[in-house]
Amino acid sequence: MFTPERIRQIAQAIQPQLPELLPADIAADLDFQLTALLKQANAGQPVEQQILDLLYRQEALRSQLQLETAKQFNPIPSNSAPIPTTTTFRCPHCDYTDTVPQVGMIPEPCSDHPNVPLIAA
Ligand SMILES: [Zn+2]
Repeated sequence: MFTPERIRQIAQAIQPQLPELLPADIAADLDFQLTALLKQANAGQPVEQQILDLLYRQEALRSQLQLETAKQFNPIPSNSAPIPTTTTFRCPHCDYTDTVPQVGMIPEPCSDHPNVPLIAA
Protein backbone atom coordinates (compact mmCIF):
# COMPACT_ATOMS: atom_id res chain seq x y z
CA MET A 1 0.00 0.00 0.00
CA PHE A 2 1.20 3.50 -0.75
CA THR A 3 1.82 6.21 1.77
CA PRO A 4 0.33 9.60 0.91
CA GLU A 5 3.88 10.88 0.55
CA ARG A 6 4.68 8.21 -2.06
CA ILE A 7 1.53 8.93 -4.03
CA ARG A 8 2.39 12.61 -4.16
CA GLN A 9 5.90 11.80 -5.35
CA ILE A 10 4.61 9.50 -8.07
CA ALA A 11 2.03 12.04 -9.20
CA GLN A 12 4.64 14.78 -9.31
CA ALA A 13 6.99 12.54 -11.30
CA ILE A 14 4.30 11.72 -13.84
CA GLN A 15 2.71 15.13 -14.20
CA PRO A 16 5.43 16.66 -16.44
CA GLN A 17 5.20 13.62 -18.74
CA LEU A 18 1.47 13.86 -19.35
CA PRO A 19 1.75 15.73 -22.67
CA GLU A 20 3.99 12.96 -24.03
CA LEU A 21 1.82 10.12 -22.80
CA LEU A 22 -1.67 11.34 -23.60
CA PRO A 23 -3.58 13.23 -26.28
CA ALA A 24 -3.21 16.97 -25.73
CA ASP A 25 -6.76 17.68 -24.56
CA ILE A 26 -6.78 14.80 -22.07
CA ALA A 27 -3.30 15.69 -20.84
CA ALA A 28 -4.33 19.30 -20.25
CA ASP A 29 -7.46 18.25 -18.39
CA LEU A 30 -5.58 15.73 -16.27
CA ASP A 31 -2.81 18.20 -15.56
CA PHE A 32 -5.38 20.69 -14.32
CA GLN A 33 -7.09 18.13 -12.06
CA LEU A 34 -3.78 16.80 -10.78
CA THR A 35 -2.53 20.27 -9.92
CA ALA A 36 -5.70 20.93 -7.94
CA LEU A 37 -5.47 17.59 -6.11
CA LEU A 38 -1.78 18.00 -5.32
CA LYS A 39 -2.52 21.43 -3.90
CA GLN A 40 -5.15 19.87 -1.65
CA ALA A 41 -2.78 17.05 -0.71
CA ASN A 42 -0.08 19.52 0.24
CA ALA A 43 -2.62 21.33 2.38
CA GLY A 44 -3.07 18.09 4.32
CA GLN A 45 -6.30 16.88 2.76
CA PRO A 46 -6.66 13.11 2.24
CA VAL A 47 -6.99 13.15 -1.56
CA GLU A 48 -4.29 10.60 -2.33
CA GLN A 49 -6.74 7.91 -3.37
CA GLN A 50 -8.36 10.39 -5.77
CA ILE A 51 -4.95 11.10 -7.26
CA LEU A 52 -4.32 7.40 -7.82
CA ASP A 53 -7.79 6.88 -9.26
CA LEU A 54 -7.30 9.80 -11.62
CA LEU A 55 -4.03 8.42 -12.93
CA TYR A 56 -5.18 4.82 -13.08
CA ARG A 57 -8.21 5.76 -15.16
CA GLN A 58 -5.81 6.45 -18.05
CA GLU A 59 -4.68 3.23 -19.66
CA ALA A 60 -1.60 4.98 -21.06
CA LEU A 61 -0.45 5.97 -17.59
CA ARG A 62 -0.58 2.56 -15.97
CA SER A 63 2.74 1.33 -17.30
CA GLN A 64 4.24 4.67 -16.39
CA LEU A 65 2.86 4.34 -12.86
CA GLN A 66 4.43 0.91 -12.60
CA LEU A 67 7.72 2.29 -13.83
CA GLU A 68 7.73 5.13 -11.31
CA THR A 69 6.78 2.77 -8.52
CA ALA A 70 9.32 0.12 -9.48
CA LYS A 71 12.02 2.76 -9.70
CA GLN A 72 11.54 3.85 -6.14
CA PHE A 73 10.55 0.55 -4.58
CA ASN A 74 13.41 -1.39 -6.11
CA PRO A 75 16.74 0.19 -5.28
CA ILE A 76 18.43 -3.15 -5.91
CA PRO A 77 22.20 -3.21 -6.43
CA SER A 78 22.79 -4.09 -10.06
CA ASN A 79 24.76 -7.29 -9.50
CA SER A 80 22.79 -8.94 -6.72
CA ALA A 81 19.73 -11.03 -7.34
CA PRO A 82 16.48 -9.37 -6.26
CA ILE A 83 14.89 -10.99 -3.24
CA PRO A 84 11.29 -11.81 -4.05
CA THR A 85 8.90 -10.51 -1.45
CA THR A 86 5.50 -10.34 -3.05
CA THR A 87 4.28 -10.17 -6.61
CA THR A 88 0.84 -11.57 -5.88
CA PHE A 89 -1.92 -9.39 -4.54
CA ARG A 90 -5.51 -9.94 -3.66
CA CYS A 91 -8.58 -7.85 -3.08
CA PRO A 92 -9.60 -7.96 0.60
CA HIS A 93 -13.29 -7.95 -0.39
CA CYS A 94 -13.48 -10.71 -2.99
CA ASP A 95 -11.36 -13.46 -4.52
CA TYR A 96 -9.74 -11.23 -7.14
CA THR A 97 -5.97 -11.64 -7.39
CA ASP A 98 -3.34 -10.09 -9.62
CA THR A 99 0.29 -11.01 -10.17
CA VAL A 100 2.85 -8.46 -11.29
CA PRO A 101 6.02 -9.44 -13.17
CA GLN A 102 8.32 -7.66 -10.75
CA VAL A 103 8.37 -6.89 -7.04
CA GLY A 104 7.39 -3.30 -6.41
CA MET A 105 5.02 -2.98 -9.34
CA ILE A 106 1.44 -1.92 -8.86
CA PRO A 107 -1.18 -4.60 -9.43
CA GLU A 108 -4.24 -3.86 -11.55
CA PRO A 109 -7.03 -2.72 -9.23
CA CYS A 110 -9.95 -5.07 -8.62
CA SER A 111 -12.67 -4.26 -11.15
CA ASP A 112 -15.41 -4.72 -8.56
CA HIS A 113 -13.60 -2.73 -5.85
CA PRO A 114 -11.33 -0.31 -7.73
CA ASN A 115 -10.91 1.99 -4.73
CA VAL A 116 -9.77 -0.73 -2.36
CA PRO A 117 -5.99 -1.15 -2.10
CA LEU A 118 -4.95 -4.71 -2.85
CA ILE A 119 -3.07 -6.60 -0.16
CA ALA A 120 -0.29 -9.17 -0.38
CA ALA A 121 -1.76 -12.59 -1.10
ZN1 LIG B 1 -12.71 -7.00 -5.15
